[in-house]
Amino acid sequence: MNIPYNRTKIVATIGPASRGREVLTGMIRSGLDIARINFSHGTHEDHLETIQLIRQLNEELGTSVGILADLQGPKIRIGEVTDGSTVVNEGDIITFTINDFLGTREKVQIRGYDQFPKDVAPGELILLDDGKLQMRILETNKEDTVRAEVVHGGVLSSRKGVNLPNTHISCPSLTEKDLTDLAFVLTQDVEWIALSFVRKGEDIIDLKKKIEAAHSNSKVVAKIEMPEAIQNIDEIIKATDGVMVARGDLGVEIPMEEVPLVQKMIVKKCIDHCRPVIIATQMMESMIHTPRPSRAEVNDVANSVLDGTDAVMLSNETAMGQFPVLAIQTMQRIIEHIEQLNYPYNSFNEVESESDTYLFDSICYSACFLAQKTNAEAIIGMTYSGYTAFQLSSHRPRARTYIFTGNKHLLNTLSLVWGVRGFFYDKFESTDQTIKDVTEFLKSRDLVKSGDVVINTASAPIKERGRTNTIRLTIVE
Ligand code: PGA
Ligand code: MN
Repeated sequence: MNIPYNRTKIVATIGPASRGREVLTGMIRSGLDIARINFSHGTHEDHLETIQLIRQLNEELGTSVGILADLQGPKIRIGEVTDGSTVVNEGDIITFTINDFLGTREKVQIRGYDQFPKDVAPGELILLDDGKLQMRILETNKEDTVRAEVVHGGVLSSRKGVNLPNTHISCPSLTEKDLTDLAFVLTQDVEWIALSFVRKGEDIIDLKKKIEAAHSNSKVVAKIEMPEAIQNIDEIIKATDGVMVARGDLGVEIPMEEVPLVQKMIVKKCIDHCRPVIIATQMMESMIHTPRPSRAEVNDVANSVLDGTDAVMLSNETAMGQFPVLAIQTMQRIIEHIEQLNYPYNSFNEVESESDTYLFDSICYSACFLAQKTNAEAIIGMTYSGYTAFQLSSHRPRARTYIFTGNKHLLNTLSLVWGVRGFFYDKFESTDQTIKDVTEFLKSRDLVKSGDVVINTASAPIKERGRTNTIRLTIVE
């Protein structure tokens, strides 16, 4: 089957609008690479069904769609409000309590954050519903009650999210809900686990320890959506396997005008460290209700691709929108157009001469260099850990990157990585025979043709499963 193959990957959130077999099949056929399961919504039962359906469709369609389980993290919300919502106006005084309380226009509950009155101080801001409502703290009794004055009023409705951009939040990075969700996720062997509201490298190290203790292979995505995470971005990137620029909360937590440059800064650092990065939120927001995105949204997707991101993400567009398949198709077309016409290929990521892996990294660099010089159609790598794939991708080669691996879990993991397409191969023949095999395989799929130049990387002797140490140039017979 001919599924579009973009180098920049598409992540989409699965929800009520896309859980069904037909819609999900349509999304995969249109170019979905990674299915995001959002643990802020839905039950474990729903999620289990989705995970099983994706695995099944991968078998049926011969695809490698990976799963990204997104943990809610220390997300703060208000409690229920009488009749679902109420209106508050500029100058109103509102009391926040951590105790159970059915909200009114005078008093609302803050959920999931008992330290709230202790952590905040007068003068700090409380933002509600993605920053649509804004309040300034007047006083706190440091125990259970905080009083604030409304700066920008609006409709206050049940369970809306709360952001505290000025406050140092003392919640643990994995809440009780996260631990329950994580225990479930770890039974499912998903490829990627995202953590929301990461603040420091330790948050990721802590999650990784739990994953390791469960003997799981899941890799971790750090969601950058707090000012503290930006301050600690280097240690977070070092600790994590992947990153998400979570612009929804980020654009409320920091001044919104800072988000575009922060996005570029994070993408660049991630490429430098061979960490796949996802640009998320409001990419095609208007497609929740209309079949055409706004021109500004088309520009946003295109510019994120040009920034060099590994993946672009859809949230409500596919989780609860009216056009989940069309949203993927539209994103796919934008990506394809940029990649065909004017993508900054071969940007070459400098190899770190201090690094322990300097020699092997130089092989990957050289393979990309050789591919550029020879105008090669493809770079073909062999890997069990995936290391070579992440390295090759970081140079953003124009040549297609085909990775052969005997590690099935890795195939779906690599679906997040820019430019990489993985195939299963578990024979341990001689290097010569393997190169012949994989070239034949790609030829049979029309991915290379007679006369094409391809660059192979391998670890010789192949049986030892060592690091990549060999480059070969092959002209396809
Ligand atoms: P969320 O994360 O959708 O889980 O809030 C993404 C974001 O904040 O942008
Ligand atoms: Mn968020």
